[in-house]
Amino acid sequence: MLLHVCCAPDATVAVERLRMAKIEPIFFFYNPNIEPEEEFDRRLQAVVKLSQLWGLKLIVLDKGKEEWQRSIADFVDLGEGSKRCEECIKHRLIVTARFARDMGYGVFATTLTTSPKKNAKFINTIGAELEKQFGVLYMSSDFKKKDGFLRSVELSRDLGLYRQNYCGCLRSLHEREEKDALRACQR
Ligand code: SF4
Repeated sequence: MLLHVCCAPDATVAVERLRMAKIEPIFFFYNPNIEPEEEFDRRLQAVVKLSQLWGLKLIVLDKGKEEWQRSIADFVDLGEGSKRCEECIKHRLIVTARFARDMGYGVFATTLTTSPKKNAKFINTIGAELEKQFGVLYMSSDFKKKDGFLRSVELSRDLGLYRQNYCGCLRSLHEREEKDALRACQR
């Protein structure tokens, strides 16, 4: 299985659950949405650390920035959780499915469903469409269920993994900073 990994914390609980089902995934890090570059490196290093700690193969595709920018261009001013995010997620899943097909993997999945801010139903609908388009099975998931998100927090703390505090793009960083500033003013 080729497992699209959005970040190390989200991958922890996904791997724990896949291993319970006797599935040993291969990590696929493709996230051109992560900005700025230092943050991309920080998140990638956390994924490298997790893959080494747990003995999992990791494939990194460090390109696609322009394609990703094009995919969200018409929705860039919309907020988090909007069509902007749907297109961003879709883009990353398309590249994952295409890579899985080209490299001969039988199944693909994503750790994006660990986040409480991501709509698993939407993600799984896209996955099912891509399964048909690329001819590679998609494994539906909702890793946040059954306290999956809490478990990911616990595991990443125990393993000393870096945890980000915004989704990924510069817009989401600014949106988080604006919320923080607003909260500070209301105190
Ligand atoms: S907020 Fe997250 S999902 Fe939405 S566009 Fe930015 S990086 Fe992508």
